[in-house]
Amino acid sequence: MGTRWTCPGPSLLVLFYYGHLLPWLRTEGDQSSDDFYNETMAKIFLQYYENTTRVVWNRFMEASWNYVTNINQQNLEEMLLKDMERSQHMLFFGTQARLFKIARFQDPVVKRMLSKLQNIDKAALPKDELREYNKLLAYMETMYSTAQVCMNEGPCLPLQRDIEEVMATSRDQKELLWAWQGWRDAVGPQVRMTFERYVQLSNKAAKLNGYEDMGALWQSTYKSDTLEQDLEHLYQELQPLYLNLHAYMRRALHRHYGPELIDLRGPIPAHLLGNMWAQSWVNILDLVLPFPKKPLDDITRNMKVQHWKPEKMFIEAENFYTSLGLLSTPPDFWRKSMMERLADGREVECHASAWDFYNGQDFRIKKCTEVTIEDLFSIFHQMGHIQYFLQYKNLSVIFRAGANPAFEEAVGLVITLSVFSHKHLLNKGLLSHQHQDSEEEVNFLMGIALDKIAFIPFAYLMDLSRWKVFDGTIQKDVYNQEWWRGPLACAPPIPRTEEDFDPAAKFHISASMPYLRYFLSLVLQFQFHEALCKATGHMGLLHRCDIYNSKMAGKLLEDVLKLGSSKPWPEVLEKITGETKVSAKAIMTYSKLLNWLVTENVQQWEILGWPDFSCYFEEKETDKVTFLSLELDPNQVNFGQWVLLALSFVMFLVALLLACRLHSLEKRSPAQDTSVQDISTLEIPPKAYFLGIAMEPRQAVKRWSCWASNNRKPLWMKAEWWSWD
Ligand SMILES: [Zn+2]
Repeated sequence: MGTRWTCPGPSLLVLFYYGHLLPWLRTEGDQSSDDFYNETMAKIFLQYYENTTRVVWNRFMEASWNYVTNINQQNLEEMLLKDMERSQHMLFFGTQARLFKIARFQDPVVKRMLSKLQNIDKAALPKDELREYNKLLAYMETMYSTAQVCMNEGPCLPLQRDIEEVMATSRDQKELLWAWQGWRDAVGPQVRMTFERYVQLSNKAAKLNGYEDMGALWQSTYKSDTLEQDLEHLYQELQPLYLNLHAYMRRALHRHYGPELIDLRGPIPAHLLGNMWAQSWVNILDLVLPFPKKPLDDITRNMKVQHWKPEKMFIEAENFYTSLGLLSTPPDFWRKSMMERLADGREVECHASAWDFYNGQDFRIKKCTEVTIEDLFSIFHQMGHIQYFLQYKNLSVIFRAGANPAFEEAVGLVITLSVFSHKHLLNKGLLSHQHQDSEEEVNFLMGIALDKIAFIPFAYLMDLSRWKVFDGTIQKDVYNQEWWRGPLACAPPIPRTEEDFDPAAKFHISASMPYLRYFLSLVLQFQFHEALCKATGHMGLLHRCDIYNSKMAGKLLEDVLKLGSSKPWPEVLEKITGETKVSAKAIMTYSKLLNWLVTENVQQWEILGWPDFSCYFEEKETDKVTFLSLELDPNQVNFGQWVLLALSFVMFLVALLLACRLHSLEKRSPAQDTSVQDISTLEIPPKAYFLGIAMEPRQAVKRWSCWASNNRKPLWMKAEWWSWD
């Protein structure tokens, strides 16, 4: 089957919407239903899918773009409408795709396409639940994108860039705690209730697609039976790197913040690491520099001095890709992308992302760029996505994706490894030192480690934790507690409760985006880097390699990107690296810093990790105390306890007196009873007792019914007495 498709225009779309596609297919086939779903018909069916999908998806992407770059009700409704159209389209073609007898087919491309079409994700939900699901997905993402942290008597600040800036630059722990807590308070509780319903509907959609739960559906993207074991193996290989870096950081922060904040045997409090999620520690490099007398150049400052602008940062990234002989972006990219936060006051989603509009010519990036080295790398990363889009734009829409999601992330990341080399930054005029001595090199490698190695557990445990939420291992009443056992190594700076919902403070959780891709691409980028450097003919240490201008490296990359997801990813990986498995070997080779870290840590007798530190979860400290299920002030509780004590003492005395009274009456009654029997012939009326006092039965009944006030006969009372009038 060819991979170029011509657009038939909207008439086919109309045909599809009125449900005439299948009858048309049947007429064309002119065969019995059983024979109808054959390979020839499959090709015609796929052609229809191709033609209509381009239009439907393009409309959805346009509506989504309009919403995230101008958040308002009208744009939200338009986006939800187009999302429903897309889901209906997916449902229709997905359901039909399941009817073809793929096992009997010869063409592997047709087989692969049809099997990909069969997974229809959320479109499998009944219409009303799908509408509800789309709304709550939009709600959670919008809550995250528009949340702000308000000062006591001042303005409210958005996450990007203000609150992130505080986390990156402040060294005042109180201020850091304010930003850290403020962001979680602004997002978490609002998302929590919706999140529980989100989990239910996600799982329902997954089950309708034939998976146990949504975690299993996400994992299925990687088509591996050994995925969990392979991930665990990679993680264990990388653990020594992370733990040595962590121990070194803990010692350095202990020097800065002192023992009140840093326990040399415990985890590092999450607000002191220079990042809202503690996933990258590079912003506090100045506090932990191995050789502080040889500080690294401040590249952000150099960029500002040289009057860099956001557009120049994009041009730099474009130049790098084209220097490798790769494709340049079309003119519309520069016209339609959102490269800076818009100045007209509209609400926008600032989380950086790259967009493919499925018409082969419209590709955009959305980013609220600031002139910083961090944003420069982020742009190189996003341009990696755009390069992938450009390379596979001629494939069927079914194959317009990375070999697996981690490949999509790794393209931009592998380029940043070259961009951040001393050689490249020097060529770009962003460094002043011509040469790096060995101490400067250790400082440089520390900067890389704080970005890449620090990210290892966060990237790995994020989805491990979410899979457990989806499969029910983590129940909704312990969402927050379990989150702190996961990606953030039990280190909240203040106690957290189940009224908080800290996972929602991370974009990918509020926006329902799988995260495993970031763990795998963290490893994969080094594997790619090693292969591309080899193709370039680079000799020597891996961190000194810069593939800029290398057409050989570009060709190797291009051959892989062009394949999109048309081949199984191990095959694609082999094409570029010669290996069929993701391997930690290259990242370990690159991280020469490990030897230096180990030597340092041994000298300091450091304990790796926090072995005697159990992952605690305290209730938040509060002035209120629970007493008889009531939240009261401690003084009120004190008073209440004394009252209860006095009451129980009085009750005890009353019970004691009653017992004595009953005892004495019991002693006397046998004598009385005997006398009654002896003179029974005299017809003396029987006696009854009320609270141990002998009296006429009629009186006893009156008193009892008054006292008990329920007009029920006590068991011990004779029936004839009770019925007395
Ligand atoms: Zn990305």
